[in-house]
Amino acid sequence: MYKAPRGTSDILPQEQNYWKYVKEKAVLVCHLYGYQPLTTPIFEDSRLFSRTVSGGTDLADKEMYIFEDRSGQKLALRAEGTAPVCRAYLEHGLFNLPQPIKLYYIGAAFRYERPQAGRYRQHHQFGYEALGDVDPALDVEVIEMAQQFLLSLGLPKFSIQLNSIGCELCQPGYIKSLQQHYSNHIADLCPDCKTRLLKNPLRLLDCKKASCQKIAETAPKITNYLCPKCQEHFQNVQQGLKTLEIPFQLNHRLVRGLDYYTRTVFEIEPQEEGSQSALGGGGRYDNLVEQLGGKHTPAVGFATGIERLILNLKRQKMEIPPSCKSVAFIAYLGEGAKIEAMKLASRLRQAGIAVIKATGSKSLKGQLRQANSLGTNYTIIIGEKEVKNQTVVLRDMINNKQDSVSIDELVLSLKQNNPPRIISQIHSQPPDMI
Ligand code: AMP
Repeated sequence: MYKAPRGTSDILPQEQNYWKYVKEKAVLVCHLYGYQPLTTPIFEDSRLFSRTVSGGTDLADKEMYIFEDRSGQKLALRAEGTAPVCRAYLEHGLFNLPQPIKLYYIGAAFRYERPQAGRYRQHHQFGYEALGDVDPALDVEVIEMAQQFLLSLGLPKFSIQLNSIGCELCQPGYIKSLQQHYSNHIADLCPDCKTRLLKNPLRLLDCKKASCQKIAETAPKITNYLCPKCQEHFQNVQQGLKTLEIPFQLNHRLVRGLDYYTRTVFEIEPQEEGSQSALGGGGRYDNLVEQLGGKHTPAVGFATGIERLILNLKRQKMEIPPSCKSVAFIAYLGEGAKIEAMKLASRLRQAGIAVIKATGSKSLKGQLRQANSLGTNYTIIIGEKEVKNQTVVLRDMINNKQDSVSIDELVLSLKQNNPPRIISQIHSQPPDMI
């Protein structure tokens, strides 16, 4: 038997209402803050990720899905959303428009990780990016938007962790001090941190191993090393959050997993027991567009994992509005009735009424059992007598009543009680995640 590859999953129909719910809230918050949708390819030139995420991060080292196509071009499955957005920003000359450009995406990301609850090899991210403006007010807006999105989902229990990791001017001085501090404890470092010490020292602060965390506690704080401009930026971000009464906690050990961040970094931590993984994170990446060959373009963004949001919704036992069901089930008895049922189903669907028609030659009892399990509001029953009289038996499954009605009457009354829905009410926007 084939199974979905390890770390991936099927999203079954009964799960889809959660996805629809989350995507609708995402689209709504983007609309409120003036972000436009952008869909990028599911694979890119592998260098887009390896050069930007870069320097000794897990993602660049071992987590990317890289393959060669038939022409020998090295491609990578989308590992994260920000670098593709920047690539598209440059490729389509969006820097020529009034800045900042505000874009959002909802799509799959692929990372070869050890699968566990909330960590998969294929997951889906909702993220948004504001490119082309250095104003700290934009950092504040991006954080506020993340807060508002989570609140709109009905997930009020989270904390916003905030830090600044400086810029290319002040970071090197800090990294030197950090390396010095960790070098004094080298015997107690885990093997990964021994590598980090050389390849990506900032990530030392992020290690979850108890012995390394102890060393991190006494490590120098980056906020004491910020240059005047980074210091001012960080103060303004904090002031803006206070003005909007957005609670946050300063966390001098927060550095984020990807390598392109500068200045503001933030992460959203759930406060539920047993959920240690971040719900989302983001920050500034003022050098990324330049790294990809563009002009200096300050930018800031956020991304969250949809699977993790849904895990938290379920943990909090959030009631999610049910998916749209079919209005009626059509059952029949006998060959003549089967043809009438086919004609009636076609007529109702053309009138915009969603129906499910029985198939095959099940007993009426079997058909009614199926109608019950589908949970339709009505069951329409057609037998030989109904064929002759051009009527149907209309059973109201909610009020447990039934009536004989003419076919014309039936169409009219179902139409009146169940006005056709427009597609966007049934399916989420944007249409489907890719
Ligand atoms: P990142 O791109 O690493 O900043 O991740 C952004 C968000 O995506 C995280 O905060 C998680 O909510 C989610 N995420 C990242 N990696 C995974 C994964 N392997 N499985 C599920 N969700 C993930």
